[in-house]
Amino acid sequence: MALDAIKSRFRADLFSVEPDVLEKYGQDWSGVLKPRPAAIAFPRSTEEVAALLGACNDLGLAVVPSGGRTGLSGGAVAANGEIVLSLEKMNRIGALDPQALTLEVEAGAITEAVHVETAKRGLTWPVDFASKGSSQIGGNLATNAGGIRVIRYGLTRNWVLGLTAVTMSGEILRLNGALEKNNTGIDLRQLFIGSEGTLGVITEAVLKLCPLPRDERTQVCFFALRDFGAVLRLFAEARKAPFTLSAFECLSDACLREVVRHGVRSPVDPGTGEAYVVMEAETENAEAFEAWLGRIFSWEEQTGAPPLVLDGTLALSSRERAELWSIRERVAESVMTGAEVHQQDLSVPIAALAAFFTDVEARYATAYPEFRTFIFGHIGDGNLHIFIRKPADMASEVFHARCAESDTMLFELCQKFAGSVSAEHGVGLLKKPALGYTRSPQDLAYVRALKRALDPKGLLNPGKIV
Ligand SMILES: Cc1cc2nc3c(=O)[nH]c(=O)nc-3n(C[C@H](O)[C@H](O)[C@H](O)COP(=O)(O)OP(=O)(O)OC[C@H]3O[C@@H](n4cnc5c(N)ncnc54)[C@H](O)[C@@H]3O)c2cc1C
Repeated sequence: MALDAIKSRFRADLFSVEPDVLEKYGQDWSGVLKPRPAAIAFPRSTEEVAALLGACNDLGLAVVPSGGRTGLSGGAVAANGEIVLSLEKMNRIGALDPQALTLEVEAGAITEAVHVETAKRGLTWPVDFASKGSSQIGGNLATNAGGIRVIRYGLTRNWVLGLTAVTMSGEILRLNGALEKNNTGIDLRQLFIGSEGTLGVITEAVLKLCPLPRDERTQVCFFALRDFGAVLRLFAEARKAPFTLSAFECLSDACLREVVRHGVRSPVDPGTGEAYVVMEAETENAEAFEAWLGRIFSWEEQTGAPPLVLDGTLALSSRERAELWSIRERVAESVMTGAEVHQQDLSVPIAALAAFFTDVEARYATAYPEFRTFIFGHIGDGNLHIFIRKPADMASEVFHARCAESDTMLFELCQKFAGSVSAEHGVGLLKKPALGYTRSPQDLAYVRALKRALDPKGLLNPGKIV
């Protein structure tokens, strides 16, 4: 009834209720929850989003904002008859200001399309990760996305000057425009960044850009190492080095085997080490970089300690750089393809990483020997992804029950090491039960108060985060 009422107020082609469209737009990459949306809306302007949200609010209809649906926490899943609001048709990439280094975009613009557009002017928006070909700017802002270059550039929120958000009551908030400086009190823009579509729908943004690092200044290496301890020692050396570290990413041998099985070329054979690192550096001084590499490769002679790196390579062309990067970028997809996978995305302070990793490994080995774990992540940010694949001979329900148990073990470790139960994938529906491990009751009470202030009826992305 309410759905018919809302459809009658808008143009006929705003909504789709085709079963395949409902199935596709009602879920995200997590793929765990069954989608069950009532309809999918494809608005074309901020004003149309405002009219739609206002009408849904009046009629008591719940709405789920949806971007590229690459989220891994169920944030864009509509499992309870909600209307999904897809930003897909609002994908305009607008004016680039080469002096201010800003770009105006609509929220549905694809992340990679923004990279392609800005690269034409020697600039970039430095938010980068494997799902960039499908994720949208609105989704990146709503999740305050991380990625492979956080160590150099920080999180998404650093790269947003202004945004337009529409509240559930249909009010349009234009926040901060293209201002670099605006010290007029509480910055509402930052509330919407990372709020996973629970406080408002982001429809437009002014992105902040930076120079695209020049090819000849960028060095990408791949290292094979004995174990995770050696990875952290290499990281400590890279931190002290005479270059700017722009990425320091790690994957376990199990991950490398899986990527190679999916046809990705690797400069070293799986089995060479227990862990591998993709490192990217920006440097004006290629000689100093090579001297540093020489020291790393002759560690035993230099220090008398066991070798730091077992094998490795330095990319000598942009094609080789892309090939080394694809090893890291294809991990999640390779591990998840054709398999039932349970995944976690955890962070701890860098100083606690070694102890955290040792505990995680030891506990999986003793309590869950039947699990095949794939560990990789953004080591330079203290962020580990732990993917577990269902053993072929284990029933799905048994697997999920065992994973729930092992999650408790992981969350307790995060608590012990003052970490976070979600480093960069957000909370959505899947991480909601775990929030209390690393956020305090007082903290969460203020989050709920904010939610009530902006969405008193609780209709916008209901059940997500809190
Ligand atoms: C292979 C792979 C690799 C990944 N690597 C990384 C990584 O390195 N770092 C990282 O941070 N993430 C990573 N992710 C997760 C995901 O890609 C990011 O969270 C991304 O920012 C989500 O963007 P999206 O457009 O797909 O959003 P969606 O999945 O569509 O939505 C995510 C959340 O944002 C909300 N939302 C979407 N659009 C809007 C909007 N316009 N206004 C308000 N709310 C909105 C949704 O309701 C939902 O809660 C990865 C995912 C995959 C599949």
